[in-house]
Amino acid sequence: MHILMILFAMYNPRFNPMILTRPLSPGLQPLYQEFDLEPIDVQHYDLSITIDREAETIDATAEVTLVPTEENLTNFRLFLRELTVSQVTGASSFSQDGDSLFITLPGPASTSDTIDLVIDYAGSPDHESWGGFHFHPYVTYQMGVGFVSDPSMGKYMFPCHDRPADKASYDFHITVPDTLYAVANGDSAGVTDNMDGTLTYNWTLDQPMSTYLAAISVADYAVLHDSTDSRIFYYVYSWDVDDALASFVHVDQMLSRYESLYGAYPWDCRFSYVQTPLGDMEHLSQVFHIASAVNGSTNYDWLLAHEMSHQWWGDCVTERYWTEVWLSESFATFSEAVWMESYGEAEYLDYIIDHIMKPYLNSGELFSIVGAETPAELWSNTTYEKGASVLYMLRIIMGDTAFFAGLNNYFANHSYSTATTADLIGYMEAEYGELDWFFDQWVYGEGYPIYDISTSWVQQGSDWELTIGIDQIQSVSTFFTMPVDFLVEGSGPDTLITFTNDVQNQEETFTIPFEPTSVEFDPYTKILSSAVLGIDEQTTPPSGGVGTMYLGPNPASGTTVINWQGTGNMVLDVRVYDISGRVVQSSVLQPSSRTLDLTGLSAGTYFVDAVAPGNMRQTARLVLLDL
Ligand SMILES: [Zn+2]
Repeated sequence: MHILMILFAMYNPRFNPMILTRPLSPGLQPLYQEFDLEPIDVQHYDLSITIDREAETIDATAEVTLVPTEENLTNFRLFLRELTVSQVTGASSFSQDGDSLFITLPGPASTSDTIDLVIDYAGSPDHESWGGFHFHPYVTYQMGVGFVSDPSMGKYMFPCHDRPADKASYDFHITVPDTLYAVANGDSAGVTDNMDGTLTYNWTLDQPMSTYLAAISVADYAVLHDSTDSRIFYYVYSWDVDDALASFVHVDQMLSRYESLYGAYPWDCRFSYVQTPLGDMEHLSQVFHIASAVNGSTNYDWLLAHEMSHQWWGDCVTERYWTEVWLSESFATFSEAVWMESYGEAEYLDYIIDHIMKPYLNSGELFSIVGAETPAELWSNTTYEKGASVLYMLRIIMGDTAFFAGLNNYFANHSYSTATTADLIGYMEAEYGELDWFFDQWVYGEGYPIYDISTSWVQQGSDWELTIGIDQIQSVSTFFTMPVDFLVEGSGPDTLITFTNDVQNQEETFTIPFEPTSVEFDPYTKILSSAVLGIDEQTTPPSGGVGTMYLGPNPASGTTVINWQGTGNMVLDVRVYDISGRVVQSSVLQPSSRTLDLTGLSAGTYFVDAVAPGNMRQTARLVLLDL
């Protein structure tokens, strides 16, 4: 997904022992691993949902087919939030407590049994900022991922085993007024006219899907079929058809680019974009695309590409634990650059530098990719942009043939299932050789290298002796062993020197057959390092910033919410700076509302500076989209 809602929230982690194929570094407390699997494996969900848009309620039945994963199963729980169950056929009793729907079976079940539950439920489905069920003036929709209490938000729509690792097939029967159109995952299985002013839209998905990817959307949609690729559909507001035709003009090329690199589109059903109000989300076979990005331009191709690539990375090979969500999001972010590469190598590298490396380096984040301890760390520049930079660097080190062979084998062996970082490492090492050194520093290690380079040269007979000194001066303890490039220019032909920087205070001497005039470090930007920013381009927030403040959504359009990590009941004096340091907006926010109105500001990067009484100050970088 993209467009992030980040909130500072309290967690109550229960650390159950987990079997990990790779040990986590000491001190990492994997937040979302509290979400252990129940002793069940759901095979199929058959969901019948009648939507009352006036009352903002649903009346629904879920048929859940599951098998026990342990013998003598009598009790287990499903998850359902803020909806009330009236009856469970197939259970001897049930009860609800918070998000849990506890089921007691009539008798012990074994792993060879199939259990069918028919669960009648109803109520006013809600959402938690981003994730959950939304009633919008002209769209009713489910967003499958949340950023607050639990990333899996299927529980806002249906009783489910709300864990990414339990995948199932689905049928949907969505009943809506006959003026509206209902979209769901998979392919259309026809429409039933109920002869009472309502229609029931039937959708079916035969292949396995995690609960966070299950979604529906209901609106006055026009259905567009891409004439260049019969698998591609668009569900757009009827008044936005002309803009949609222009904005989706590259979608067929994106699909064929990803198919050529990642393998055939993995789903037997259509691929589609569904216009929705809030933000982009990679629901399986139906990407939700933010309405304002359907604007008649191709400015948001990067976003279309990101979400499309999730059909492979995230939807088909799914992170087994949320703590490893980089297996989904960094691949999708990297895939944005892979799409740009279809325009040329320069476009690929420019995208990596400007839209991937710089946002990460400017974020100030120094934590490791795997092992997030808060939601803000999980849904962070580290997960998205640092992770994508890691894939970019890995591709350079392995070479294209080995890199894509490793990716393809990893995909083939974990498609329609789940994976961990250790799985990815295994398939990459099979193609290249030992890579623990790379993943240990870049994925399990913190931050990025800051190099201190010194160069000098003296004449030795007819040659010149060039001495290169290289230190790593980053504050994090991780040392980054990497091949380093230096481009020597002077009176002879440009000469590239490459060696492995594997110790501190390293000094290397080279004989150059001409007098150098300049020695440039990492001229082709092969390393995520502070050198990428350059002195002239580095942007810094207003001085004095301390602590951590999160903004959500970020990137934002219209408004964002300040999540102040400190005493909650403080009045905040907020200033928004542009990157030149000019104050473009100031306001005083009361504890009751921390929503920052950004309307009127043009798209770009800003710094939000908040000061609380006692001169407590926190700053955060904000990207504003032109929507
Ligand atoms: Zn994403």
